[in-house]
Amino acid sequence: MKNWFTVERIDSDTFVISEYKHPEETHCYLLCGLERCLLIDTGLGVGDISGIVGQLSDKPVIAAATHIHWDHIGGYGMFDTICAHSAELDWLNGGFPLPGEAVRRMLSEGDLPNGFELDEYNVFQGAPSRILADGDKIELGGRTIEVLHTPGHSPGHMCFWEESRGYLFTGDLIYKGRLYANYHSTDPAGYLSSVERVAELPVKKIFPGHHSLDVCPELITEIRNALRRLDDEGMLCHGSGAHCFGGWSIRL
Ligand SMILES: [Zn+2]
Ligand SMILES: [Zn+2]
Repeated sequence: MKNWFTVERIDSDTFVISEYKHPEETHCYLLCGLERCLLIDTGLGVGDISGIVGQLSDKPVIAAATHIHWDHIGGYGMFDTICAHSAELDWLNGGFPLPGEAVRRMLSEGDLPNGFELDEYNVFQGAPSRILADGDKIELGGRTIEVLHTPGHSPGHMCFWEESRGYLFTGDLIYKGRLYANYHSTDPAGYLSSVERVAELPVKKIFPGHHSLDVCPELITEIRNALRRLDDEGMLCHGSGAHCFGGWSIRL
């Protein structure tokens, strides 16, 4: 399991924990306050992310996935305090729309460590200890993180906004790569509304859920403008296919 994660420091009390050995290239973010830490997303559930977090901070941890997809809640079983938006509670309680076998197949695309038992991997199920809603403030002690409900990629997707630093943690709403709004549970029009909303924020830095960390805040307006155009052309709907733009694409 050694070296499954790559840890980088963003600033004195913020870290990114990445899984580059899987094509998903997921990123989890540890925001340390004076009293507690917030772990935004918990990865694929392959390595011991709680052990990594324990090396970075000795404070209690709130684990909050941007949404209840398998690649964001993989580590949920390792933490006492886990969160979810009310729109995705079913997915933690038997209603996850993807069969375990499909998830294990996607997981197998990675360079999994020796000793990892793929056959025993299951998508996390369990009751969240905290339900998050739009506008909630997560107080870490000297740092406050605001919850933004940003549905579209999934019904309960959330971005996390740290206004004092201009940090926006965007999960699967914004990243450089292929964006997904083609599943049954996605909502292309809602996706655009959510992007419109975060485009209004004075963002200094974007921290995406996948792939390159070298993402300019301008990517938000670029995605917004492209989705507006698709909307104007009547293409912002399920089944309109894959649309490619410079450095990113969206599947509808
Ligand atoms: Zn997702
Ligand atoms: Zn994802």
